[in-house]
Amino acid sequence: MLHYYGSYDVVVCGGGTSGVTAAVASARTGAKTLLIERTGQLGGQMNFSGPPGFSYAYLFNALHEQVIAGFAGETHKRLLEMGHALPHTLTDWRGSYVFSYVDPDWWGLLVYQILTEEKAEMMLHSLVTDVIKEGSGLKGVVVEHPSGRSIVLAKVVIDCTGEGEVGCQAGAQYEIESRDVLEPSTVAFTADGVDWDKALQYIKDNLKDFLFEQADYTARGYTRETVEAEIKKAKSILEIGEIMGYISLRDQGLKTGGWHGQSGVGFFLMPKGGRILAHFQHSSHVGKTDATDVRDITRVEIEARRQDVIAFNFFKKYVPGFENAYITRVCPEARVRETRRIMGDYKIMPEDILESRKFKDVIGKSPFGTGSKHAVGTSALVTLPNAGKPKDKGSHDIPYRALVPIGLENLLIAGKAISAHRECHHRFLMETIVTGQAAGAAAALCAKKGITPREMEKDVSELQDVLRKQDVILDGTK
Ligand SMILES: Cc1cc2nc3c(=O)[nH]c(=O)nc-3n(C[C@H](O)[C@H](O)[C@H](O)COP(=O)(O)OP(=O)(O)OC[C@H]3O[C@@H](n4cnc5c(N)ncnc54)[C@H](O)[C@@H]3O)c2cc1C
Repeated sequence: MLHYYGSYDVVVCGGGTSGVTAAVASARTGAKTLLIERTGQLGGQMNFSGPPGFSYAYLFNALHEQVIAGFAGETHKRLLEMGHALPHTLTDWRGSYVFSYVDPDWWGLLVYQILTEEKAEMMLHSLVTDVIKEGSGLKGVVVEHPSGRSIVLAKVVIDCTGEGEVGCQAGAQYEIESRDVLEPSTVAFTADGVDWDKALQYIKDNLKDFLFEQADYTARGYTRETVEAEIKKAKSILEIGEIMGYISLRDQGLKTGGWHGQSGVGFFLMPKGGRILAHFQHSSHVGKTDATDVRDITRVEIEARRQDVIAFNFFKKYVPGFENAYITRVCPEARVRETRRIMGDYKIMPEDILESRKFKDVIGKSPFGTGSKHAVGTSALVTLPNAGKPKDKGSHDIPYRALVPIGLENLLIAGKAISAHRECHHRFLMETIVTGQAAGAAAALCAKKGITPREMEKDVSELQDVLRKQDVILDGTK
């Protein structure tokens, strides 16, 4: 039996980074807002099934101009004031790969406070299982939760489920690759007890065994040699940010069966309460899976944990500094790098990124490049044909039309399922915050003005004004 739960201006489905941000932006723009989340924990890949290795990173372009602020900037600032973040690490040799560390657990605590301050309602432990549709227009969603099945009505629905679940239920057009091509999934874990002086010394003594190219140092005029010289001077492991390589140790591990070979050897850093933790988000890589298939995602959960055990034992046995390390957290569920991309009125293309294109209907920016994908194997990443960095060390605009699904009304998509070519999949955490904020503000304005998100495409100037007031960067940068 279906119960009527309530009617809202805006209903946000999925409470990860995009969903939390969308709900805050919607409530701040004056809409009666409900955020529906499958678990009890808001934050998704940020703090529940994550964190991702770089949270936050890429808020700056390679010229070190800040291109992403908005909700990411606000939460970074608030957490910095609370002692749960570090200032932006604008190390000269780093290109756009600048870290702006936040403690993901405190991020997860703070967002309930912000949603409560903004009077956004929450419905937790609730799974959106269907949509209510009249013609091509959504009228609401069906939710299953401990009270049974409910109907929630909405003027505008926002899909922030990561996998485009609501769009799919509504019959949206989407793209998904075959199992053989989709990026592998991971169960991440975190460890404490590392002797960082010893770990850093090993890196300095074996520089050739490590990859630093992720930092895009050539954009800042550095060469591999000058970066190695900088790393030799590093006082803290935090200056390196992402540690990938250990090639000689990895090869020993491969010979003895001590390394599983499904991914490269490395980790990210998680500063926390004055300590530094190692965060392993590449140490399991389960490929040939489509996470929209329950058999596949079940296999991921089992296989990723098998690989995690091998990986942690490898670090303890082989990697200097990790002898006394211990696991503090295994993420409660696997998360998924890649599934559906819902096609919208505009599809972001690799050329848009490579040309640092600007759009009239800009709702935010990203300095992220194109074409690098996770793959099973010791190199962990593959490079696709259009791989590259944004022109002039800048960033590209994200157009509003990429959030409006083709042929459907009263629905917006935010987060990693927005309309983009696979080679520029907008899945990175800071991008999901950008699109979440825009979708939330747009939905609230549509509800207030009595227009559909598609009708708003004709004139986004009011939306842009609202976003600027919410500290979103839309102009003035490369
Ligand atoms: C292993 C891994 C490593 C990554 N590393 C990085 C990194 O280093 N840096 C970076 O920037 N990005 C990284 N990413 C990408 C990034 O973290 C995610 O793509 C991004 O956080 C996704 O945000 P989202 O809001 O779109 O989805 P999610 O954070 O996945 O949130 C989706 C939310 O929707 C909920 N939900 C799903 N279906 C329903 C439903 N039917 N009803 C109700 N609720 C539902 C889920 O419970 C979840 O809370 C990584 C991703 C993965 C998987």
